[in-house]
Amino acid sequence: MVIGRNEHGISRKQFSPNAIKVLYRLKDGGFDAYLVGGCVRDILLGQQPKDFDVVTNATPEQVKKLFRNCRLIGRRFRLAHIVFGREIIEVATMRGHHEAAEDKNQISQSSDQGQLLRDNVFGSIEEDAERRDFTINALYYSINDFSIHDFANGIAAINARQIELIGDPQTRYREDPVRMLRAVRFATKLDMTIAPATEKPIKELASLLDNIPPARLFEETLKLFLNGKAEENFLMLRRYGLFKSLFPALDKILDKNTEGLEHSLIQQMFRNTDERINADKKVTPAFIFAALLWFPLLKIAKQLQLSEQLSEYDAYTQAMNKVLSENAQHIAVPKRFTLGARDIWHIQQRLDKRSGQRAFRLTQQPRFKAAYDFLLLRVQAGEHQHQELANWWSEYLSKDVNGQKDMVRALGSQGAPKGRRRSRRRSSPKPATE
Ligand code: ATP
Ligand code: MG
Repeated sequence: MVIGRNEHGISRKQFSPNAIKVLYRLKDGGFDAYLVGGCVRDILLGQQPKDFDVVTNATPEQVKKLFRNCRLIGRRFRLAHIVFGREIIEVATMRGHHEAAEDKNQISQSSDQGQLLRDNVFGSIEEDAERRDFTINALYYSINDFSIHDFANGIAAINARQIELIGDPQTRYREDPVRMLRAVRFATKLDMTIAPATEKPIKELASLLDNIPPARLFEETLKLFLNGKAEENFLMLRRYGLFKSLFPALDKILDKNTEGLEHSLIQQMFRNTDERINADKKVTPAFIFAALLWFPLLKIAKQLQLSEQLSEYDAYTQAMNKVLSENAQHIAVPKRFTLGARDIWHIQQRLDKRSGQRAFRLTQQPRFKAAYDFLLLRVQAGEHQHQELANWWSEYLSKDVNGQKDMVRALGSQGAPKGRRRSRRRSSPKPATE
């Protein structure tokens, strides 16, 4: 179905000028080209698109010949990136059905679970539309007729505010289980509901996410947690049993006590993250992962202390390694973020030791601010025993140097490490939630 130039109410000016430039260059080169996917969908919904994707019948090599500022990327999907300063327009070649390939093994491959491993079979625009995930993502805007081409009833789904998979949901989730995460993300982002048939198989198939490479799951979880809808995404992922495949240890803890401190800390963390994102403030994945792995960390530390007869300090440190390596089996968090999470965890133990130069020195640590925010989060979530400590730090941070010195002096013997100096590290107080 083609929705004509004035019916859909979209004007060419709403798309990025660079994307329009790419369309014209491809057209002048004798190829078909469309804007497709999220950008058309978002503009129809009155939202600002994140990026602009183009699809064409030119092969990646043919695209490369037309643009000097082009680089080819990807293995699973070969794509062209046209680079305009900081903006990148992604140009994909229309994909066909993998069964149609002459030499199947060369171009497209499925795993035993029906998961698509490679997908580089080129096809017509109708085939390309069928290969896309949701009906609202299969809308194409053409500069030939300035119209929207709707091959999968996407406009009807937009009007009904429904996230609806194209084709048989079971098959489509098996081909690519990440589509389950995408269904959740689009439902919350666009304030839509997941259509019943699209929703139904999710619980049963959720564990297929275990077959997704951890690096891809890291990317997908970041999208879920950094798009300003993290709290809703978290609750929905839990409801559909998807959270379990991402964070199994935490999921188990949350299941045990759905109203407990654990649940309220995680939910509060996501709520705060959303507030920051929506106020254009910075958010670091190190903080998010420090929070997500906090309770599994404490649990492992406790177990190690009992089973290995370790000191609290050693158990806590070893538990950090263990919880991070367990997490890496599911989600590949880059080292710069796991190092940040470790710092945040380490500082939790040191926040009550404030005598002498200690408070000042702690504030000089690169992750101090994040660790202080983490303490506030713990209090906000219900660890009221740390309320006073949190208040002390808030006041300390608001004072000038002299005021800070006065505060440290007023602490007296409070805030000094207990025991002899040499054994200080080993006898450091336990993480306060235990
Ligand atoms: P946003 O950029 O807002 O996250 P989007 O719809 O543009 O949303 P992208 O991940 O940028 O999402 O993908 C662009 C388009 O590629 C989608 O609209 C969809 O048509 C198609 N697509 C992306 N991922 C998949 C997938 N896993 N299976 C099928 N089609 C997909
Ligand atoms: Mg996009």
